[in-house]
Amino acid sequence: MGIDLGTANTLICVSGKGIVLEEPSVVAIDRDKKVPLAFGEEAKKMIGKTSGNIIAVRPLKDGVIADFENARLMLEEFIRRSQDRGGTSPRMVIGVPTGITEVERRAVKNAAREAGAREIGLIDEPVAAALGAGLPVMEATGNLLIDIGGGTTEVAVISLQNNVLCESVRVAGDELTESIIQYIKKVHNLVIGERTAENIKIKLGSAYPTDQEEPVMEIRGIHLISGLPRTITIKAGEVRESIAEPLSIIVDAVKRTLEKTPPELAADIIDRGIILAGGGALLRRLDTLIAHETGIITHVAEDPLRCVVRGTEEVLKNSKLLERILDKDLR
Ligand code: ADP
Ligand code: MG
Repeated sequence: MGIDLGTANTLICVSGKGIVLEEPSVVAIDRDKKVPLAFGEEAKKMIGKTSGNIIAVRPLKDGVIADFENARLMLEEFIRRSQDRGGTSPRMVIGVPTGITEVERRAVKNAAREAGAREIGLIDEPVAAALGAGLPVMEATGNLLIDIGGGTTEVAVISLQNNVLCESVRVAGDELTESIIQYIKKVHNLVIGERTAENIKIKLGSAYPTDQEEPVMEIRGIHLISGLPRTITIKAGEVRESIAEPLSIIVDAVKRTLEKTPPELAADIIDRGIILAGGGALLRRLDTLIAHETGIITHVAEDPLRCVVRGTEEVLKNSKLLERILDKDLR
């Protein structure tokens, strides 16, 4: 079994069966009794639609395990569901963010063990993402991968299955959504929720301008001054302006990594280009922005949301790599 324990989404694959679970990394909790009521999509749907007693937590906010107990319960539940769907698998390969501590690494392993795993190997998410994106990470060539998730962006130079260099910044998809909320509040005096803002980002968001006519969108929120619901129209250009700052933080991290890259590997990267993975890679023309800022051709991986879990699947298929990971985590 292979697991991508992401800040926004958790994905699980079983060897021979492919991806068997894709759920938001969310737990709904009863505030009084402090017990979890639902996990994943079901938990996300409960938010805001029930009494104020139910709160939603994202136990992995910011790329680290912010709420250990709930992260453990969520992981156990997701593993159980996957086992129902695809038989048991005592060997587990789990992708984890590069920034997590030794204590957190042990915590993830313990949770997997409690859920029935006998042998557990951890793999750094960028390495898994690179494998899942089909990059030649087993070879002595340099690959630059940018994984933009919900909470963190990881920029990694990978060669011979290892992270040669890696920088993790806590600016990613969630931060873009938050910037849209702030912009609309400031410029339009309109208060919108996280879901609306994420929807705007997905439907209208872009990182780089185009010659073509750009779309507009009607959005609803609460007017800050009258306190009443109001509908306004926003333009794609405004959304781009609102997310420009967090995007520049991501671009700076890429530039810093390139500056630190050993010259031989940098030459490989210039030849091969930069690869974008993670849900954030789906932002329109982000590849164009990064190519423009770095001068290096940039591609979006195929199916960027599933690169990490596909990478864990690759590990499960490759007995040599699997042995190595089970013996000593890959990072
Ligand atoms: P994680 O690995 O942290 O779980 P994911 O790789 O699943 O994160 O990506 C989740 C992020 O991708 C969220 O912030 C989400 O808003 C963003 N996202 C998903 N689809 C799109 C899209 N089409 N355009 C822009 N952002 C997107
Ligand atoms: Mg991820």
